[in-house]
Amino acid sequence: MASSKRSLPIYGSGRYRGLSRLRDELLQSDLVSPIDVDPKDIQFARRLTVYRLMLMLMLTSVSFVLAEAVVVGGHLALTIVAGISALLIFATSVRLATRRRILIPPLFTVGLNITVVIMAIGNGADHHGLWLFPLMIALAGLLPIPVALVAGIISLIALVWVRENTANVEDIAEDAALIATWLISLAVMRLMTRQTDELADLALTDPLTGAYNRRYLLPQTQRNIADYQRYARLSTLLMVDIDHFKVINDKYGHAHGDKVLRSIVGLIDQRIRGVDMLFRLGGEEFVVLLSEVGAQTAAKIAEELRVGISRMDVSPAPEVTVSIGVCDVTQVNSADNWLKQVDEAMYSAKQQGRNRVVAVDTSKVPDPLIASNLPIWR
Ligand code: GH3
Ligand code: MG
Ligand code: MG
Repeated sequence: MASSKRSLPIYGSGRYRGLSRLRDELLQSDLVSPIDVDPKDIQFARRLTVYRLMLMLMLTSVSFVLAEAVVVGGHLALTIVAGISALLIFATSVRLATRRRILIPPLFTVGLNITVVIMAIGNGADHHGLWLFPLMIALAGLLPIPVALVAGIISLIALVWVRENTANVEDIAEDAALIATWLISLAVMRLMTRQTDELADLALTDPLTGAYNRRYLLPQTQRNIADYQRYARLSTLLMVDIDHFKVINDKYGHAHGDKVLRSIVGLIDQRIRGVDMLFRLGGEEFVVLLSEVGAQTAAKIAEELRVGISRMDVSPAPEVTVSIGVCDVTQVNSADNWLKQVDEAMYSAKQQGRNRVVAVDTSKVPDPLIASNLPIWR
């Protein structure tokens, strides 16, 4: 589950923080199907499109090398490696086109392709060196920048090595052009990555509080419902509504109201974990999505939040209280239905006198049907 509530930019937050993001990007495969992808990870969608195009290019280049190796003959190792690469790249293209699944992650296909080209150059077919230009662009477009940087260096060293001191003026000029192409592609990709991350932040967060906005809530709730139906993975929604907020605005001014909204977001943000998410639904209503937590535990967390908020220093106002509805995923059939149920629970808290937590009474155990469908290792 993608996370963090407030910290910007997305690149430094939640699920995609540091190494785990790198790992996700490197091993994009069957395990990360495009339909499961978080809409926030626009980078993934971009990389997928680039991959589709680059697979065509890779197929063309390995086919040329393979055809030449077969026709000219005598290079058994090259023929075998080029043949295997062509097959794997072809299978990956077909699977991506028909099933929208990645059979072999980009790191391995581009790596294989560069290996084939460098082997061909080592066998004296210098003209195949031209393929290295688009392949260096592919490295930058398909892999995380640090990985593309390391892969590029390894490729260049391998290229110099297979030439065995035969470097002449043309080779040096070609290498310089290759290095420039590779570095400039990396710089352009870095810029694009930053810009898309910034745009995603702007599109999905609320500018006043930094919480996620309503636009991002729907896909997240849908994903959690799917996770429950597939893997019996629990999650719970809290609907938090400030009590008599209009009075606070009227008495102490709108600016103070804004400050209260930010303080509440700050407090919730501190209390919840990195995997949980906080959304501002609008006005003075917030939704918290708690992962791997059922209604009972969530009700305890909600109670802690309620008490914490009521003790917050919001001077000159005496105190701020909230009413919280709680509903776990076990009895819901759609995102709208989930929001409706948790909203009703919150409304019921209001009716019972405000400043309290009301949980929808859901079954305490996961659906046995779902549990029986789980893979044995879960
Ligand atoms: P209840 O206890 O029944 O929830 O009463 P309430 O006054 O909190 O609810 P109501 O829906 O009547 O009022 C919500 C108020 O929230 C009205 C609006 O002025 C205020 N509000 C909405 N958005 C903002 C905002 O961005 N900043 C500030 N300061 N106030 C806002
Ligand atoms: Mg209110
Ligand atoms: Mg309200």
